Amino acid sequence: MAELFIGGQWTGARAGGTREIRCPADGELVRTVDEGGRADAEAAIDAARAAFDVGQWRATPPAERAVLLGRVADILQRDRAGFARAESLDTGKRLVESEIDVDDVTAAFRYFAGIAGADGGRVIDVPGAISRVVHEPVGVCGLITPWNFPLLQTSWKVAPALAAGNTFVLKPSELTPSTAILLMQALTEAGLPGGVANLVLGPGAEAGAPLSEHPDVDLVSFTGGLVTGRRIMAAAAGTVKKVALELGGKNPNVIFADADLETATDYALTAVFLDSGQVCSAGTRLIVQREIHDEVVDEVVRRARRIRLGGPFDPDAETGPLISAAHRDKVESYVADGRAEGAVLRCGGARPDDPALAGGFFYLPTVLDGCTQDMTVVHDESFGPVLTVETFTDEADAVRIANDTRYGLAGGVWTSDAGRAQRVAARLRHGTVWINDFGPYLPQAEWGGFGQSGVGRELGPSGLDEYREAKHIYQNLDPAPARWFGR
Ligand code: NAD
Repeated sequence: MAELFIGGQWTGARAGGTREIRCPADGELVRTVDEGGRADAEAAIDAARAAFDVGQWRATPPAERAVLLGRVADILQRDRAGFARAESLDTGKRLVESEIDVDDVTAAFRYFAGIAGADGGRVIDVPGAISRVVHEPVGVCGLITPWNFPLLQTSWKVAPALAAGNTFVLKPSELTPSTAILLMQALTEAGLPGGVANLVLGPGAEAGAPLSEHPDVDLVSFTGGLVTGRRIMAAAAGTVKKVALELGGKNPNVIFADADLETATDYALTAVFLDSGQVCSAGTRLIVQREIHDEVVDEVVRRARRIRLGGPFDPDAETGPLISAAHRDKVESYVADGRAEGAVLRCGGARPDDPALAGGFFYLPTVLDGCTQDMTVVHDESFGPVLTVETFTDEADAVRIANDTRYGLAGGVWTSDAGRAQRVAARLRHGTVWINDFGPYLPQAEWGGFGQSGVGRELGPSGLDEYREAKHIYQNLDPAPARWFGR
C-alpha cells in the first residue's frame, strides 16, 4: 500500500495507519488504504509549497496547462468504467449515476481547459503610463472534499486550481478515497510535474486540519457540512487565508397550482430521492400551493413507496444506501424529531425489511407532511431521503417560506405563468434557481450559495477566479521628480 501522493511519489502514512473501506450497500471490503495524519499533511504542504516556489507549473503557459487538462479529460473517458466502478463501490451509489458523474467531471476539465488561457488581463487607459491588471495563481491550495460526490466535488476544485497555475494538497473524505487516488494517477499520466498535485488520506481533524491552519497554505477550499465549514473558516482566520466554502442547503421546491403537475410531481421525487437525498442541492422542502396539496402529495407518496432500493450493480435498483451506519442513525433521529414536533409520516420512516438489503445502510424514502419551518427536520440538513411538505397560499407566502432558511444553495419553482416564474426566481435568496426543472448544473454556470450555504462560487468564470489573485501593474512612461516635498 502506498496511496498518499506527496512530491510526485506514492508513499504510505508516516505513522503506519490504515483504514478499511467497505461498500455501504453490503458491507463488503472494497480495499484497505493508508490513513495519514498531521505529519503527512505537513509533508504534502511542504511539497506543494516547494513546487509552487520553483514555479515550473505557474510559468507553464496557460495554453499548455489547458492541453494537460484536456489530456486528463481524455483519460477520464478512456477509464470511465474504472472510475465509475470505484466511485460506486466507495459510495454505494448506482453505477449509472457514477458514470454520469465521470462524464460531468470530464466536462468540467474540458471547460477549465477552455478558459485557462482565455484571459489576457485588462489594460487601463492612463495618459503617460501603462496600467495592466493581470491574474496570477493564489499559490498553495488546500482542497477538502466530502463523500457524496467524491470525484465530482474534487474535480470542481482540482481543474480550476491547475488551470490557474496553482499547486495543491487534496484531502478527500476518509470514507471515499478511491477516485482521488485514480485522479492523481491520471494527472501523473497526463504529465503534471511532481509536487504540483499532492494527496493526503485520513480523518479531517488530523489530515485535514493543517490545510486550514498552516501558514504555507494560501487558500483553503472546502465542500462538506456546515459545522466543519465554520471550523475551517475560523481556523483559516489565524493566517488570513482565502476561504471558499460549499456547505449544503435546505432547498425549496415550490409548486404553484397552475404548474404542469404530472412533471412537477415526477421531479419532486428525483429532487430528493436520487442518491438517497445525499445531495447538497436536494429538493428536501416541498412547498405546495394549498389547493393542489392533496393531489400532489398523494401522488408523491404513492410513487415514493414504490422506489426500489439496491446496491450499485443491481439493475433494478433506483436509489442506493446511505453512506454509513452513523449517518443513517442521524437521518433516523431527524425523522423522529420531526414526528415528535408534529409532522405526519406519510411513508417510509424506517429501514427496509427486505433481508437482501440487511447488510447495507438503507433507509426508505420518507415523506413528512404538515411541516412548518420551526421543525428541526425542516431547517436542518438531514442529508437523507426525507421530504418535508409545507403549504402556501399565494406568491408572497411561497417566497417567504422558500427563503425562510439559513441556507441558500438552490431552489425550484413550478408554474405555467412566465411572469410569476421570473418574479419568484428574482426573489429567491438561493445561488441557483430552476424554473420548471430541478437539478441541472452546467460547467459554464456559477454554483454556490447565499447565506450559510457557503462563500464563493465553483464552476463558471468565478470558479476560476477563486484560484487567482488580481494584480495591478502600473508603469510610469515618463518618470520625473514630483517635488511634493521640499519645494
Ligand atoms: P464533513 O464536513 O464532516 O467532512 C467533509 C470533509 O471535511 C471530509 O474530507 C472530512 O474529513 C473533512 N474534515 C472534517 N473535519 C475537518 C477539520 N476539522 N478540518 C479539516 N477538514 C475536516 O462532512 P461529512 O461527515 O462528510 O458529512 C457531514 C454532513 O455534511 C452531512 O451530513 C451533510 O449535511 C453535509 N455534507 C454536505 C455536502 C455538500 O455538498 N455541501 C457534502 C457532504 C456532506
